[in-house]
Amino acid sequence: MMERSLSERMAQFDENYPLILEEIARAARLSGRKPEDITLLAATKTVPLEVINHAISRGLSCLGENRVQELLDKYPGLDKDRCDVQFIGRLQTNKVKYLLGKVSCIQSVDSMKLAQEISRLCQREGTEMKILVEVNIGREESKGGVLPEELLPFLEKVSKLPGLRVDGLMTIPPVCAQKEELCRYFSEMRQYYVDIAAKRLDNVSMNCLSMGMSSDFSEAIQCGATMVRVGSALFGARQYPAAKEENLDLGGR
Ligand SMILES: *Cc1c(COP(=O)(O)O)cnc(C)c1O
Repeated sequence: MMERSLSERMAQFDENYPLILEEIARAARLSGRKPEDITLLAATKTVPLEVINHAISRGLSCLGENRVQELLDKYPGLDKDRCDVQFIGRLQTNKVKYLLGKVSCIQSVDSMKLAQEISRLCQREGTEMKILVEVNIGREESKGGVLPEELLPFLEKVSKLPGLRVDGLMTIPPVCAQKEELCRYFSEMRQYYVDIAAKRLDNVSMNCLSMGMSSDFSEAIQCGATMVRVGSALFGARQYPAAKEENLDLGGR
């Protein structure tokens, strides 16, 4: 693939952004909601800092990074005053310490070990962290997330950890040939989201249902997503540094 210049990438964003917002608004109305009820999180892995800040200057107000190192590299230069920064990738316990004070939410919590480490560090720093619990809705071995039947017991345990606030659920469904199949996964997630909210667990709110990416965000919203995480549809196809290409982006991460 030809390397795109920064200005080409910015122009590409400018072209895509209004179309994505329009589609989000359409899908929101189809599901009986308002466009502003849906948060667009831009998945900015591999996107250069200059392009991200350009996107923020155009109104982008929420972004998610996948890899701790990449987040740390970009962080000092990010226009953070105008944009909420979240973490959406798989997270090793020993890297939690780099995220505290930098991201507003960790979307990929799927083990007690990870939750306990976030809790421990938050207590030590006298701070709090919002988390989403990731659900492995398609029961795929290649993906993170708690299995659906483990979700409630997991939440009950996590709800007792100080320093953590569960703010909702996140999922990356299997690649589906049929939209109907995809919508079954999204709808199943929405049902867990509603059922858990009704249980009113301490420290557990269902404010955010994060699902849907470039290829399926419209379906996800129509099935109840309150946040969509969109990368390539906003910024164009990802360009990886050549040597690292095969290590990255396994299973949509
Ligand atoms: C990269 C990524 C996305 C966005 O993927 P696109 O298909 O480019 O929209 C969403 N969620 C997570 C967790 C990601 O890693």
